Amino acid sequence: MGDKALIPWREVASWSCRACGNCCVGYRVPLKMDEFVKIGGAYGQDVFEYGMGKVYLRNGVNRRCVLQRPLMDRWVCTVQGMKPTACRLFPFRIQHKPVYPRGDNSAYKLGDKVYYIYLDPDCQGIVPGQPTERFAMQVLPEIIRSGFGVAGKQKFTTSKYVNWTPP
Ligand code: SF4
Ligand code: SF4
Repeated sequence: MGDKALIPWREVASWSCRACGNCCVGYRVPLKMDEFVKIGGAYGQDVFEYGMGKVYLRNGVNRRCVLQRPLMDRWVCTVQGMKPTACRLFPFRIQHKPVYPRGDNSAYKLGDKVYYIYLDPDCQGIVPGQPTERFAMQVLPEIIRSGFGVAGKQKFTTSKYVNWTPP
């Protein structure tokens, strides 16, 4: 995330990934153990870097994630079937407490739990405004389930523009 303030979800009309690929440049993507094992098995150990007891995806040329590839006039992720949680959640940030005093704008109730949801302003797919029903009732629940590892296939929170199957 850059220096700009996170955006509470109630200030967002909608979001859809435009496959600009910007979130794959200059970010350090942390991996969970099972993600490390799966990606290492498919792509080898050279795609990793290590620090502070954690494993990250390595950035390559121009600080771009080594698992990103050009396709037509876009950049696409080559690990669609095993994309790390941190990548699947971007640009969303799910918190258990408000980040800012104005955090009321970020509260979201799902079931009997309240989450505080923000978006990274560096994402190009954010449309500011009053949340649409689709955003509030379909996108956000999928993001929360994805964040806690209970999502199935992503339906509302993946790019509609491109898909990539590793050769
Ligand atoms: S999540 Fe946002 S920054 Fe990342 S590729 Fe999609 S539109 Fe671009
Ligand atoms: S794993 Fe895919 S989505 Fe995540 S940073 Fe790398 S190219 Fe981007």
